[in-house]
Amino acid sequence: MEELIIGSHVSFQKDRQLLGSVLEALSYDANTFMFYTGAPQNTSRVPIRDDLTIEAYQVMREHDIKLENVIVHAPYIINLANNEKIDSYHFAITFLKQEIERCEALGMTKLVLHPGSFVKLNREIGIKNIIDGLNQVIDKNQKVDILLETMAGKGTELGVNFSELKKIIDGVEHSEKVKVCLDTCHLHDAGYDLTHFDQVLEEFDHVIGIDKIGCIHVNDSKNERASHKDRHENIGLGTIGFDTLSSIIYHPLLKNIPKILETPYITSNDDVKEKTLPPYRFEIAMILGRKMNKNLLEDIRNYYK
Ligand code: FE
Ligand code: FE
Ligand code: ZN
Repeated sequence: MEELIIGSHVSFQKDRQLLGSVLEALSYDANTFMFYTGAPQNTSRVPIRDDLTIEAYQVMREHDIKLENVIVHAPYIINLANNEKIDSYHFAITFLKQEIERCEALGMTKLVLHPGSFVKLNREIGIKNIIDGLNQVIDKNQKVDILLETMAGKGTELGVNFSELKKIIDGVEHSEKVKVCLDTCHLHDAGYDLTHFDQVLEEFDHVIGIDKIGCIHVNDSKNERASHKDRHENIGLGTIGFDTLSSIIYHPLLKNIPKILETPYITSNDDVKEKTLPPYRFEIAMILGRKMNKNLLEDIRNYYK
């Protein structure tokens, strides 16, 4: 039987880079992972160290983590949709080009990107800006695919439904380099009914084509369907629920697609505000066991005590 490809968001720190990310993923019993090449909320980046990358590859080989299943996420402040401040727009394009180069230096082939927010412009112009930006960024010889993420529709976010993503893909010259990352929390918050996931997938296949799915972000949601909020919840503790998420994770048509958890860290106890404990080890175990763990939070707290 084919093994589920599952992992989570992990950190990528200056001193150990990819090696640190791999070791963190292994601490969760994951067989893949996703990282930002620096802090997700800023664009300061350090040069990639090949010695650490080679060491990381060694550990990945030993633990059968396949390079092609590992995901990079571009920082979320990169906004290709808004060109009102032309300097920021050009900065976003330059940064993305460098991010693709960093991915290539690390041997990574999948870069997740939020399409962008149109802010004071409008949807049509926003989409045009994204297309123009991607056309400046994508080189036909690059090994990296850009995975446009499905968004919740918070504020003026673009990419909130399949036809909007399709418009972007169709505008890109080298559209073979553009794929999609489905995020379950975002789909639900955008209004898709995940309890009828077969229908959602059918719609995706009809509009974009199922072969364009490059990654799935598996998150529960804190809010009701169509809330446009984008607040992730731990698996089984939100409004999507364990069974629905499980049916997506184990969907036969998505078998070879990496599944990545981006669920929130939890607090060490109910009196503490700071969320410091990663939930991933126990969420992965629960998913592999195919049964909701009613003591999920307690198990995490006990383990990291
Ligand atoms: Fe994202
Ligand atoms: Fe996501
Ligand atoms: Zn999100």
